[in-house]
Amino acid sequence: MTFDIEKALQILEHEVQNYQVPVVDLIAVQTHDPFKVLVATILSARTKDEVTAQAAARLFARAATPQELAALDEPTLQKLIYPVGFYKNKAAYLAALPGVLEKNFASQVPDEIDQLITLPGVGRKTANLVRAVAFHKPAICVDTHVHRIMNIWGYVQTTTPLETEMALREKLPERHWIRVNSLLVAFGQGTCRPVGPHCERCVLASFCPRIGVTPRKLRALPKQQDAGKVVPTTPIKRMISWNVNGLRAVAKNGFAGIVGDLAPDILALQEIKAMPEQLPDSVREMAGFTAYFHPALKKGYSGVATYSRVPAETVRAGIGDPRFDDEGRVLTLEFADFYFVNCYFPNSRHDLSRLELKGEFNLALQEFVQGLAVRKSVVICGDFNVAHTEKDLANPAANVNNAGFTPEERHWMDAYIHAGWLDTFRAYHQEPGRYSWWSYRSNARERNIGWRIDYFFVDPGSRDRVMGADILDDIPGSDHCPVLLDFQ
Ligand code: SF4
Repeated sequence: MTFDIEKALQILEHEVQNYQVPVVDLIAVQTHDPFKVLVATILSARTKDEVTAQAAARLFARAATPQELAALDEPTLQKLIYPVGFYKNKAAYLAALPGVLEKNFASQVPDEIDQLITLPGVGRKTANLVRAVAFHKPAICVDTHVHRIMNIWGYVQTTTPLETEMALREKLPERHWIRVNSLLVAFGQGTCRPVGPHCERCVLASFCPRIGVTPRKLRALPKQQDAGKVVPTTPIKRMISWNVNGLRAVAKNGFAGIVGDLAPDILALQEIKAMPEQLPDSVREMAGFTAYFHPALKKGYSGVATYSRVPAETVRAGIGDPRFDDEGRVLTLEFADFYFVNCYFPNSRHDLSRLELKGEFNLALQEFVQGLAVRKSVVICGDFNVAHTEKDLANPAANVNNAGFTPEERHWMDAYIHAGWLDTFRAYHQEPGRYSWWSYRSNARERNIGWRIDYFFVDPGSRDRVMGADILDDIPGSDHCPVLLDFQ
């Protein structure tokens, strides 16, 4: 059945009135100035709208015209636009922009796509957006939201944003070209989110084919008689845990885009294998987050990092045992009504030479988090380096007594769960074949020969605060994939 695009866009026009207006549209409406729209669009790539808006305001206070921009050097521009994503690159583009505008376009922003893409830092997406928003001329800006949602609707069947743009030029009536980006960006940020779209409250739910979509599983778990803790009416926080197996490597492979798409409130990383000073600025001080690091003393080994949109009230690196703390294994952030504990459990090793040490870590950590749970809710996440049951790995029979599936490691998980801690993924999913780690050997990931060893647990009194959990097994970049918890 053909998707009714007219009906969908008409409904969305009404729907997004209450959504946040994308920052570039806002600047266009407020200024009617193509130069400011162009600069704001350059700043906005890979950057949250609120960060772009603040950076643009600081910059425009000093440079509202190409001539004023030409008077600022690159270090000054960096300071003014920080912390937008890739601020050093963008400062270089902005420094070069007045010269190119003056030389080729008499210091005016051109309105043709072929001319716009000759400007520093301007790709096809930016050019289309500037032409549409600043000049109100027909152009279709296809960003990740437009590309994704048009394919979800089955209106196009494409694999790249450029293919989507070309398909839409053929198919989408021209009267929609200028508006479609603003509509779908707002809708994609607010409802049809890249991970876990809110289909349960979507105004298009009755006729959206939801092609390739895994809807968000949003339901509180059944209450326990003895839960004891009052469920606060706070917004749902999206938490992501990911063993990146080297943060410097993953930073070069789409990390910023993945984080942008996942839109976590808290992001916990394990096995960062880097000191903070070894990381690129854009990762060490990721825009929109406060970052906390607990690296191992030994360079290039282990280590955890946690990024939070809301700064933590207190931070604790380690659990008070140098055997584990020197290896950068546990980082705890305290917030108003919960603790967030990011863990990288030791690997018991192929020859099981660290099995005993791992058992001691397990017990020390259990004692530590139980102490925290006396005071407030506890969320504990990370790479536990153990598959709990036979359902949690592809080949259980072949791995009995192997590291990560030894009876000793599994018994600790049993005891932990018997003490009331909730394995949040299993609270929602009983199906086998859902894994979070695959060996790099033998095409294991393509064949889904994997293990579920990355978890989110909550303390026994906080199960009512769990609103959803999943494994994001389509996210590449590491031999682990991210796991997710929605927590209220
Ligand atoms: S029903 Fe779901 S997939 Fe379809 S548009 Fe709405 S949120 Fe997106």
